[in-house]
Amino acid sequence: MVIYSHSKLSTFEQCPLKYKLRYIDKIKPEIEKTIEAHLGTSVHDTLEWVYNSIKENSERSITLDEIINHYIDIWKKDLTQDILIVKKQLTQTDYFNKGIQFLADYYQKHYPFKDGTIECEKEITINLDENTQIRGFIDRLVYDIENNRYEIHDYKTAGTLPSQEKMDQDRQLALYSIAIKEIYGEDKEVLLVWHYLAYNHKIISKRTQEQLEDLKEETKKLIRDIQNTRIFLPSKSILCEWCEYKSICPEWNFEIDSKISEKILSKKVNPFPEFNNNEKEKLDIWN
Ligand code: SF4
Repeated sequence: MVIYSHSKLSTFEQCPLKYKLRYIDKIKPEIEKTIEAHLGTSVHDTLEWVYNSIKENSERSITLDEIINHYIDIWKKDLTQDILIVKKQLTQTDYFNKGIQFLADYYQKHYPFKDGTIECEKEITINLDENTQIRGFIDRLVYDIENNRYEIHDYKTAGTLPSQEKMDQDRQLALYSIAIKEIYGEDKEVLLVWHYLAYNHKIISKRTQEQLEDLKEETKKLIRDIQNTRIFLPSKSILCEWCEYKSICPEWNFEIDSKISEKILSKKVNPFPEFNNNEKEKLDIWN
C-alpha cells in the first residue's frame, strides 16, 4: 500500500526537487521550522485544547485568560532560537502577538464553543484504489444536528485571504469529505469550513458527489505522475524563501558556490536519482 498526504502532493506540485529531498532522500534540514509554522502549530494546539476541554465537560466555561495562558505555554515550549524568520522586518514577538490577536478574535466570535464538535485532529483515510491511500488529519469535525450535516473545520493562520472561487477548487478538505461520506453515508451533506484567523473570517464551500469522483481521478493521475517522475527538477518561486532546503538547493547555490555538487553529494542528495554519472554529465548540470 502506498500512502500519500495532501502536503506530500502539494510539495511535489510546488517543487519536485523539494519533494525528493523531503520524502525520498529524507534529508534532515538544518533549520526545521519557520516562525509561521510555529505560530500555526501553537494556535492549532490551543484551539484543539479548547474544544477537547468542552467535550470532556460540557458545563465547562473557558475564559480568554485561560486560552491565552495555554497558548503562551505551547509557544514557549516548542520555540527554538534558530527558528527561521523570513520577513526580517518582523520579530518573534510580532508573531507571538499575532497569535494572541487570532485567539482573542476567535473567542469573541465562537464562545462558548458548543457547536457539536465530534473530534479534533481526526485521522482519516481515503482509499483511492486497492494500492493507494491518502491519509490526513481534520482539524475539527462537527455534526450540525439541526441540519443533519457534517462540517470539516480547518484553521488558517496565513496572512492572505483567498477568494471563494479558489476555495471552491481546494483539494485538501474536499478529499477529507470523501472519507467522512465513507464513514457517515454518501447521502450526508458535508460542509468545508476554513477559518482565516488573521481576518476573523470563515469561508464555506461544498462539493457534489460528481465533483468528488472527478477529484479522486485527478488525484490518482497526480500520484501516477509522481511515481513516473525520474528527474526531480527544482522549481524556483517566492516560496523558496520558506524552503528548508534552500541552503543545499542547486537553484540557489549553483553560481555562488562552485562546490555545490560536492556539498549535495556529501549529504547524499541527488536530484537525478535515476541517472548514472555519465547521464548527469550529459545534462551539463554539475559542471
Ligand atoms: S529552494 Fe526552491 S527550488 Fe530549491 S528545493 Fe526549495 S522550493 Fe525547490
